[in-house]
Amino acid sequence: MKKETFVTKAQLEEIVKEYPTPFHLYDEKGIRENMKALRDAFSWNKGYKEYFAVKATPNPFLIDILREYGCGCDCSSYTELMLSEAMGITGENIMFSSNDTPPEEFIYADQLGAIINLDDFTHIDFLERTIGHIPETISCRYNPGGLFKISNDIMDNPGDSKYGMTTEQLFEAFKILKEKGAKEFGIHAFLASNTVTNEYYPMLAKVLFELAVKLQKETGVHIKFINLSGGIGIPYTPDQEPNDIRAIGDGVRRVYEEVLVPAGMGDVALYTELGRYMMGPYGCLVTKAIHQKHTHKEYIGVDACAVNLMRPAMYGAYHHVTVMGKEKAACDHKYDVVGSLCENNDKFAIDRMLPKIDTGDLLVIHDTGAHGFSMGYNYNGKLKSAELLLKEDGSVQLIRRAETPADYFATFDCFDIGKKLLTK
Ligand SMILES: *Cc1c(COP(=O)(O)O)cnc(C)c1O
Repeated sequence: MKKETFVTKAQLEEIVKEYPTPFHLYDEKGIRENMKALRDAFSWNKGYKEYFAVKATPNPFLIDILREYGCGCDCSSYTELMLSEAMGITGENIMFSSNDTPPEEFIYADQLGAIINLDDFTHIDFLERTIGHIPETISCRYNPGGLFKISNDIMDNPGDSKYGMTTEQLFEAFKILKEKGAKEFGIHAFLASNTVTNEYYPMLAKVLFELAVKLQKETGVHIKFINLSGGIGIPYTPDQEPNDIRAIGDGVRRVYEEVLVPAGMGDVALYTELGRYMMGPYGCLVTKAIHQKHTHKEYIGVDACAVNLMRPAMYGAYHHVTVMGKEKAACDHKYDVVGSLCENNDKFAIDRMLPKIDTGDLLVIHDTGAHGFSMGYNYNGKLKSAELLLKEDGSVQLIRRAETPADYFATFDCFDIGKKLLTK
């Protein structure tokens, strides 16, 4: 699929007059259309609900758009819970899917009335000791081990993943939780990440639905929901076909009707915790070419760096690059597009064929709307960028200002040196 930007060069030239590069820009129209398509694809399931994975894009202005369509928050840390509470998203609108959970996070999640999704068998005891009771609604995270395959393709390696309980542990957990007073149960599993195939969710659903039938029979618990979690991916590269959410919803429905309905479990609600799929394509990193370097390779130095987008450095991930205004030009130059960190993995693109880039050109780095800004860090004392929202009417709203040195030095405020740094 040809990768196009959701913003034009003319629009960007206006935006950079007010907001200097680099910044992350989000596309309200794209977010809304995608959200509606997801909702429609699962509208056959009465209790369906998406809990947006806050870690992907923890920005209240963006989450607020999703909330209009009934989304809740999937949280996994104290500050993510705080963000949800501040937005007025509480109670069963929060799914708390954490792991290696500190006690204060369980306490806070319980105070908010969040649905707690236990990552481990030992957390039953830990939770009970920590909050003094077992909640009436409780969920457990499942990990079947082994490899997760579709036909002969290995999708991911749950056997090597730290998350979830084994099959045996899950059965035991449900029995114990029931004895301790839990009334409504949920099952959660996240077995493959960034899948670009319409088969993943239906395959996962089959595993979980069959498990749910057995669990309900053997333990006598009432299973209220099955949480298919995240993992629906996006096409980062131009040769990948995007997922068809309609086909995914239909695929899950077929399995639901085949497995759950005949078992008398046609009342089970389906939940998702999508992050990447909700936001990934609807955000981009806008940066400017500020240097050209000709040594053993041809380098384009931009004003963004891995601090703004870590995925290429961390995973060798591909992010498509568009040189604005040169969309139709021949890609006849081979470049490494690099940032300024003192780290040689600070490269947005390696040996990438692109049009000839001139200093001052604006570059759009695609698909940074999820796990982009949020993975940012402050290495080399680099500051995090602003986040902007391109609204449906074409206007632009600042939805997070850029960090200043005072933000970076704020944690020295209790020292003399801090006073010096912060008053500068
Ligand atoms: C990260 C995460 C998600 C979201 O994953 P995506 O790949 O962004 O869809 C959902 N649930 C849990 C528990 C996660 O850790």
